[in-house]
Parts: sequence; C-alpha cells; structure tokens
Amino acid sequence: MTVSAMATAAYIVAALLFILSLAGLSRHESARQGWVYGVTGMGVALAATIVHVIKDGHDQAGDNSTLGIVLMFVAVLAGVVIGLWRARIVRMTGMPELIALLHSFVGLAAVLIGWVGHREGLLARAPTESPLSLWHIHNAEIAIGIFIGAVTFTGSIVANLKLSARIKGAPLMLPGKNLINVGALVAFAALTVVYIVVSHDRTDGTGTLVLGLLTLVALALGWHLVASIGGGDMPVVVSMLNSYSGWAAAASGFLLDNDLLIVTGALVGSSGAYLSYIMCKAMNRSFISVIAGGFGIEATATDGGEQGEHREISAEETAELLASASSVVITPGYGMAVAQAQYPVAELTRLLRERGVEVRFGVHPVAGRLPGHMNVLLAEAKVPYDIVLEMDEINDDLAGTDVVLVIGANDTVNPAATEDPASPIAGMPVLRVWEAKNVVVFKRSMATGYAGVQNPLFFRENSQMLFGDAKTRVDDIVGALSAARTVRAAA
Ligand code: NDP
Repeated sequence: MTVSAMATAAYIVAALLFILSLAGLSRHESARQGWVYGVTGMGVALAATIVHVIKDGHDQAGDNSTLGIVLMFVAVLAGVVIGLWRARIVRMTGMPELIALLHSFVGLAAVLIGWVGHREGLLARAPTESPLSLWHIHNAEIAIGIFIGAVTFTGSIVANLKLSARIKGAPLMLPGKNLINVGALVAFAALTVVYIVVSHDRTDGTGTLVLGLLTLVALALGWHLVASIGGGDMPVVVSMLNSYSGWAAAASGFLLDNDLLIVTGALVGSSGAYLSYIMCKAMNRSFISVIAGGFGIEATATDGGEQGEHREISAEETAELLASASSVVITPGYGMAVAQAQYPVAELTRLLRERGVEVRFGVHPVAGRLPGHMNVLLAEAKVPYDIVLEMDEINDDLAGTDVVLVIGANDTVNPAATEDPASPIAGMPVLRVWEAKNVVVFKRSMATGYAGVQNPLFFRENSQMLFGDAKTRVDDIVGALSAARTVRAAA
C-alpha cells in the first residue's frame, strides 16, 4: 500500500471518528466517550497528515525537504505547548472567549492559505485552457476561502473582546447597517468575478489588488456583523462563528486538496449551523437575521436604573423559608459558575431532599456562558440528572412552586423579555420564576446581567435579594439547615 493510500484510509477512519464524536458529545451520558473519539480522530488525522507531508516534501524537493519538515514539527510543538498551557489555565467561565479566539485562528489560517494559493498561482505558468477551466474554479476557491476566513477572523476577534468584556456588549448601530452588510456582499461577489477574470493574466498586479480589496471588505464585514449584535444574543454568535470556522476550514481543504479538511470543515460547519438554529429557536430569534448579523438592532441596551424598592433577606431567613417549603426550584446562571457554588448547591439539594422537600432545577438553554454550561457544573457536583429539567419542562410548574432560588441568574429570569417589547431581550423565552410564591435572588449587587438590562424581577413583591457571593451564601444556608437538624436531633 502506498503512503497516499494509507493516508486516505487514515483520513476515512478519522472522519468516522469525528462523526462518532459529534454523536457522543450530544448527550451528557456519552459525552466523555465522544471526547475520546474526537481526540483519537484528531491524533489519527495529525499522524497521517505529517507522514503524507513528509512523503510529498521528499518526492518534490528531494533532500531539500528537511527545512520544511523541521518547521512543521516546530509549529506542531509550539501549538501543543501553547494549547496545553491555555487549556490548563482557562477558567470554565473564560471558555467562550477562548473558543472565539480559536475560531479566529481558523479564519486567519484560511486567509493565509488563500493568499499562498494566490502566490503559487502567480508563480505558475499562465493557463491556456478555456475560460471555464479548473484554473478559474481554483481562483474562485481562493476568493471564497479568503472571504469566509476573513469574516470569521475579525468576527471572532470582536466576539472575543465582547465576551471578555474588553469592549462593550451593546450593539454597534451604524446608520444603514443592513445596507452596509448587503453592500459588502455585493462588493464581494463583484470582486470575486473580477478576480477570476483578471487573474487569468498573471503578469500584471491587478489580481493581487482585487484580492487585497476583497480581503479588506471581508475583514470589515466580519467586524461589523458581530459588533452589531447585542450582548444577550452572543450565544448564537459564538455558535454561528463556530459554523463559519468550519466552512473556512473546508474552503482551505479545497485549496490544499485535502479531503479530510473538507470533510471535517463541513462537519464543524453544519453542526455549528444546526447549533445556531437550536439556539435561535431557544432565544426566539430568526436564523436568517442572525446570519445577516441583524438582530437586536432596534433595541438599545440600558442599565434601566432602579425600578422601585427591593427587599433583602438573610441566609438564616432563607433557610427557614426553605425548611417550611414543600417544593423548591433552583435556577442557576452565570453567577453560580463564577462563584463555583455548584458544590454547596448540590449539598443544599441533598439536605432538602432528605427533609422530604421536592427539589428540581430549571436550566435555561443559554444560562451561563456556554451551551450546556449549567448542566456540566451540576453534573460535576453530582446533582442527579433526573431532577435537572430544561426550561420548557419546568416553566409551567413554577406557578405552583413554594420557593425559587435564583442562583447567579439574571437575563434568563428577566420578565422584561416577555413584558417589555422595547427591551433588548424582548421575545427571548425566559424562566417564569416570578410566578412562584417566593423568589430568592442570589447576587452581589443590583447590577444588570450580561445583556445590560435591568431586571424588574428584583422589585416584585414576592422577590427578595440575598446579597453576597453565591457560594458563601449557599454555604451559610447549608450551615443553618444543618445546625437546625442537629438541634432537632438533640431535642
Ligand atoms: P447573567 O450573565 O445575565 O447574570 C449573571 C448574574 O450573576 C449577574 O447578575 C451577577 O450579578 C451575578 N453574579 C456574578 N458573580 C456572582 C457571584 N460570585 N455570586 C453571586 N452572583 C454573582 O446570567 P444568566 O446565566 O442568567 O444569563 C446568561 C447571559 O449570557 C445571557 O444574556 C446569554 O445570552 C449570555 N451568553 C450566554 C452564552 C451561552 O452559550 N450560554 C454565551 C455568551 C453569552 P452581580 O454582579 O450583582 O453579582
């Protein structure tokens, strides 16, 4: 068997492992196995690619291939070291911004590969075939690959800056913003056609100029698309950029003539698109308008100011309230992740269930900063799966619930989403916690959530604020409940 045939066989195995990985990652129970498939697939793909590159380099450059191979190993080693270092130090709450940064690398790689393809074309002999030759298709691939890559690159940089709060989450609202986006798409189409036509003549610099312009248009469009989207809609943006990065990788696969990159890029692209679709449905947004970078445009993010008087409650009073309840629902959010409160929350759940209280969790699809963020934290703390319910499964039961504990959630429990059509989060389905008999909100201040929108829940008559770090406060409640149990046992 030749090296090429072995590499192709390895690519097929890797592609199958990636498909199994995606299937595994779609359920908690099989996620770990899915991860193993993914890592194994990537290992197989990397090994096959390295062997293939070494063989190709040797065939084409003879003994002069050594420098290229050494550079490749240096690049792989640098990637492994930096990747391991970042993975070790990243906090769970910092994952989305890291993911956005990784997407930007895929985009940048696609741009660079496109430009290398263009340069190689310049060095190649001018084609003599018919106007619709493979040469033209190759040039179209260069233009499309650079476009998708550049949009992904700057879009992901903006997403990274927004998610890490280094720039404001509020949407950028340039006048005629939709026209700008459409104009950029039209300019891209026109420049692509011109590039395909003029790059037939390799001797003058027009092709390079046109491709340079196309790259600039795409970079600006990527920036504008994501900058125009408001903070509350960022989950969809992250999954959309995930999809774009997949298509950018697939485009690079065409240019590099690498089947595995095409298949893997298409898998990432289509699964990311499907995730965006699910997110859009969960957030009641239009999929098309997301792709066009359009939603959240009319609304403005505002801190809204205080909307009345809020009432406070202490940890001890909360413990008493819980002790007298027969049903409790816990709705966790980003603050639980920041405080790492999932372990005392699991302990509180255990204590209450021992007392015969029905405890369930209501998880909003975009709670936290990652799809499935809360589910991962609760699973980590060994909260039983069967009491962790999705928003749609719990919402109708909230009206009959004695106490809802809102632990570090804000946007996902904001009644403004359903009651205020002018709100930036209007239309987003939320957990209707305010329908419960009592609501206790755990947070450190009256600050707004990620979308920058004030929350009228805090000023409702049945709501009380328990200020402080969520982990400390839940620990206090667990302490109070345990002390009460010891006193009861002694009596
Ligand atoms: P929010 O981000 O809306 O609010 C989190 C709340 O937690 C804040 O009000 C904050 O208030 C509180 N908090 C922070 N740290 C602590 C702490 N140590 N102890 C107690 N409270 C704390 O959270 P949600 O989960 O409700 O909503 C998620 C938001 O993130 C949505 O807008 C969603 O669109 C967006 N998003 C989600 C992504 C996803 O994939 N899930 C990705 C990107 C964005 P205070 O500062 O007063 O303590």
